[in-house]
Amino acid sequence: MSQSTVIDEIFDAFQRRGQKTYGERVNMSEHMLQSAYFAEQAGAKPTLIASALLHDIGHLIHDLGEDIADKGIDAIHEEVGAEYLEKYFVPAVSEPARLHVAAKRYLCAVDPQYFAELSAASVQSLALQGGPFSAEEVQTFEQSPFFEDAIQLRRFDEMGKVPQMATPELEHYRPFLEAGLRA
Ligand code: FE
Repeated sequence: MSQSTVIDEIFDAFQRRGQKTYGERVNMSEHMLQSAYFAEQAGAKPTLIASALLHDIGHLIHDLGEDIADKGIDAIHEEVGAEYLEKYFVPAVSEPARLHVAAKRYLCAVDPQYFAELSAASVQSLALQGGPFSAEEVQTFEQSPFFEDAIQLRRFDEMGKVPQMATPELEHYRPFLEAGLRA
């Protein structure tokens, strides 16, 4: 796999495996396309739009099957995904994706409104992911160089769960992915 073909490989994974469900009312492909859509609408930089599109890629490249949270498995999809992404993309793409679960644990600790609005599936997976951050974990997370991006991405992630919503096709996002490729 090389930089020139990785985007095709990723789009292929969306096509072949994006119909997987994960306890939300949208499938993986719809969810990631919507997250990227909301990132673009918000005026996010290209690398963050790419990160939004790819943040759950770990769900498409591992093999644990559908609705894994129901089976009580913490698939650490954010690590699986980021390990894949960092081979081809700059940290501004891979790191917000790596931190999107940490960002949820952070927001649950600092923002009661955020917690109150979490989807049922997201509340269920929160326990498997370690629950809300402690005060010390909150402080550590705020020092991360990609803290701001991770929080923004998490907001787009949360928004991207709208049934039957039309978004641009994958190809629309190719330039953002290309902008995030490693030199
Ligand atoms: Fe997500």
